[in-house]
Amino acid sequence: MDGYDERLSSGALKLHQLEQELPPDEAVRVRREYISRLTGKPLEAVGRYSIGISQVVRRNCENMIGAVQVPVGVAGPLQVNGEYASGRFFLPLATTEGALVASVNRGCSAITKAGGAEVRVLRDGMTRAPVFAARSVGHAKEIADWVRDHGKEIADAAEKTTSHGKFLGSACYVTGTNVYVRLEFDTKDAMGMNMVTIASAKAADLIEEATGARLVALSGNMCTDKKPAAINTILGRGRSVVAGIHLTRALIEEVFKTNPEAVLEVNERKNLVGSARAGSLGFNAHAANIIAAMFIACGQDPAHVVEGACCITTADPSGDGIYVAVTLPDLPVGTVGGGTGVDTQRECLGLLGVAGGGDPPGSHARKFAEIIACGVLAGELSLIGAQAAHHLARAHQSLGRG
Ligand code: NAP
Repeated sequence: MDGYDERLSSGALKLHQLEQELPPDEAVRVRREYISRLTGKPLEAVGRYSIGISQVVRRNCENMIGAVQVPVGVAGPLQVNGEYASGRFFLPLATTEGALVASVNRGCSAITKAGGAEVRVLRDGMTRAPVFAARSVGHAKEIADWVRDHGKEIADAAEKTTSHGKFLGSACYVTGTNVYVRLEFDTKDAMGMNMVTIASAKAADLIEEATGARLVALSGNMCTDKKPAAINTILGRGRSVVAGIHLTRALIEEVFKTNPEAVLEVNERKNLVGSARAGSLGFNAHAANIIAAMFIACGQDPAHVVEGACCITTADPSGDGIYVAVTLPDLPVGTVGGGTGVDTQRECLGLLGVAGGGDPPGSHARKFAEIIACGVLAGELSLIGAQAAHHLARAHQSLGRG
C-alpha cells in the first residue's frame, strides 16, 4: 500500500500529484492499485504495457493508470504512386474489428496488381477560428475589413510563437454581431492544433487591440475542429488528399468476383444517392474504418476521424473498366507532436518511413496523408466490390429463378 492509500483517501494527496513524489512507472502503479482497491475491480491487464511513459505522463495522459492494447495487423504491400510517398507499403491497422484488415488487404492487392494508386495532396492548411463580439453590425464589418487588410501584421504576430508554422491567410464570417476569423496555417509535419491555437491567441490579441473587438472564445467552432462540418469539406482542413486507380474488367473479375457495371451501380446508389438522401457529409462506404485503424496505430488524434470520414468516393467508366477515386478534403495528420512519440505508435510511423520531422519539413506528414488516402481507397474498393458481388449473386439468383 506504500502509505499512499491513506493520504489519497483523506485528500491530503491528490491522484494527479503522485508523479511529483514518485518516478512515472511507480506513480502509475500506485494510482492503478489504489483505484483497483477502491472500486474492487481488477486492473492487472491494464498494468502490463511496453511503452516508455516518462514523456507520456507529462504530455499525453493525466492520471495515467496503465494502457489498453489494440491489436495491430498489416495490410499490403500497397503500391503508392504519390508526390511524397512512392513505393510499396505495409499499412499498420490497429483494430478489434475482425475482417477489416483482410478486407483492406484485398483492396491493396487489387491496387498493387493494377500498378499502384495515384495520389496527390491538393492543399494543406490547419485552421482555428476565434469568435469576436462586435458592438454593432457596422463594427463587425469594420473588424472583418481590418483583418482582410492586415494579413502581414497578423502573420508577424502569429508566427512569433512557432519556428515551423506559417500563416497562410484568413477568412471572416460575420453573423449579426459575431465575427468568426478563420485563420489558416501551414503546420509542416505537425497536425498542428496546439501550434495553431497558440499562434491564433497572438493574432486574436492583435485583432482585439486594433479593432476594439472582444474575443469571446479562441475557438468559435468555424475551425471546425472534431465535428463533421460542411466548411471543412468545401474549403479543406488539414491535408486535403485525392487518390485514384484504374481497374480493368479482368482485374475486377479476378479480385472482387464482380464486374465494373455492378461496382458503378453500388457506388452511385449507395455512396452517392444513399448518402445524399441521408444528409450525410460522408459519401463513402467505410473510410472511417481505415482512418480510425491507422490513426490509432500511428498516434494520431482519434477524434479527428469524424473529419476524415467526410470522404467522397467516385467511380467513372474508363475503357473496359473503371476509375475509382477517394477525395478526403479534411484529413488532420502529423508525424511529430501529439501521440506520435509514444513508442509503439512511433514504430508504426517508422514502418511507413514517416516517423518524426521530414526533410524538407512537411514532407513526412504529406507522405503519411498520401499513404492513408491510398489505404482508404483500398478499403473502399474491397467493400464496394463485396457488395457488388453480393448484389450480382442475388441478381443472378433471381434472374435464374425468374
Ligand atoms: P504539438 O505536440 O504541440 O507539437 C508540435 C510542435 O512540434 C510544433 O509546434 C513545432 O514546434 C514542433 N516541431 C518540430 N519539428 C517539426 C516539424 N518538422 N514540423 C512541424 N512542427 C515541428 O503538436 P500539434 O500538432 O500542434 O498538436 C497536436 C496535439 O494537439 C494533439 O495531442 C491533439 O490531441 C491536440 N489538440 C489540441 C487542440 C487545441 O486546441 N490545443 C485541439 C485539438 C487537438 P514550433 O512550433 O516551436 O516550431
